[in-house]
Amino acid sequence: MPHRLLGNNRDWAAAKKAADPGFFTRLAQQQSPRYMWIGCADSRVPANEITGLDPGEVFVHRNVANVVVHSDLNALSTIQFAVEHLKVEHIFVVGHYGCAGVRAAMRGVRVGLADNWLRHVHDVRLRHRKRLDHLPPEQQEDTLCEMNVIEQVGNVALSTVLQDAWARGQKVAVHGWVYGLRDGLLKDLDVTMDDSATVVQVFANAFKRYPRVADDAGGDPAEERFDTPDGGA
Ligand SMILES: [Zn+2]
Repeated sequence: MPHRLLGNNRDWAAAKKAADPGFFTRLAQQQSPRYMWIGCADSRVPANEITGLDPGEVFVHRNVANVVVHSDLNALSTIQFAVEHLKVEHIFVVGHYGCAGVRAAMRGVRVGLADNWLRHVHDVRLRHRKRLDHLPPEQQEDTLCEMNVIEQVGNVALSTVLQDAWARGQKVAVHGWVYGLRDGLLKDLDVTMDDSATVVQVFANAFKRYPRVADDAGGDPAEERFDTPDGGA
């Protein structure tokens, strides 16, 4: 019932104001978040709540399966506004285990229009299939959730917005995190990119944590981009 939400809202606004009388007056004047969050639209992963941040502290962009596509003007405009106008210092790409979008891409399940969007996640799966196919099904999904985050961190870092920011000497770092629905905890995937020079190296190392099948001695031509053959390590 919508009016329940409006009632909740009145209670929340009153409580906020009681705790901090200047809260809304300050926020109405300007926002100056230090953080940007790029996450999944899943209702169980609310950026502010799970990071303990108030309104005004994190600039948020969410879509199905936290994908950043180089031609997505919605995501790119949001990232540009965050970097060039708000001057955020940290951008977090946050996936989550148990992501229905990633699961659909992993299993090739048809869900509707989103199939076309999830094709980007499916591409991640194909690119790294030799690191995925030998894992048990449940582990494949969790691993693809992580790989998808790493790929999207790369996409943010390679966007003209971040490349230009770093060329200007602006301090802004892109991080990759995964959220656990079962324990409510965020995990840092340790793929932080904070200037153009780090992108290739971070990317090259990022996937080595997921071993390829043992009998695969060489590289996989599908695993292009910055991933370097690591002899099935
Ligand atoms: Zn999701």
